[in-house]
Amino acid sequence: MEQRAMSVLVVEDELDIQGLLRDYLCHEGYQVSVCGDGQQALSMLRESAFDLVLLDVMLPGMDGLALCQALREFSQVPVIFLTARHEEIDRLLGLRLGADDYICKPFSPREVVARVEAILRRQRWQQAPGQAVAKAGLSIDETRFDARLDGIALDLTPVEYRLLKALVAQPGRVFRRDQLVSAAYDDYRVVSDRTIDSHIKNVRIKLANVRETAVFIHAVYGVGYRFEPE
Ligand code: CA
Repeated sequence: MEQRAMSVLVVEDELDIQGLLRDYLCHEGYQVSVCGDGQQALSMLRESAFDLVLLDVMLPGMDGLALCQALREFSQVPVIFLTARHEEIDRLLGLRLGADDYICKPFSPREVVARVEAILRRQRWQQAPGQAVAKAGLSIDETRFDARLDGIALDLTPVEYRLLKALVAQPGRVFRRDQLVSAAYDDYRVVSDRTIDSHIKNVRIKLANVRETAVFIHAVYGVGYRFEPE
């Protein structure tokens, strides 16, 4: 299938890392632009559309957090943060900046390329949820509240069915537990995170009972869950 090259903007002021990422991504067929300054990167993002941004947290001009916040006012382009410290990731997650992933330095360029690919694949599924569902071998019949994997009925409870339906409607999107609670229950209820976890666990077991490799529902540490067929 012929596809245009995906464009990636690397925002990183350390020139050796910037060059390394550029070389690796170019080698993988991406069209790569680089920038070492936050403010300048923001102007580049306003001027042209990129498919993905690799964004260092510590930057001169405007740091990665402020840049991401400003970016989200006009664009939903996927952002992967590059951060120097592991502890920083928890803090970044807490800020809910709308980043799609976080990579801790030092990283292997191969890992970065893999994450970039995963996000762009997810992005394509978000644009075509039906394709992701079909790829997974799932079928969901909304008139009969029936979900099947490889043609075999999963026998989900109503709550499990609604959870699965919500997740597959937006492949790759990370749902917080409270969002899943509102998707799964019509009325307002106080449902603990653990209740949602156990319903999700049951859905996963029912999927695995049909096909052991059907691991589509992924836990996202500290946040919730997402559906993504591999
Ligand atoms: Ca830096």
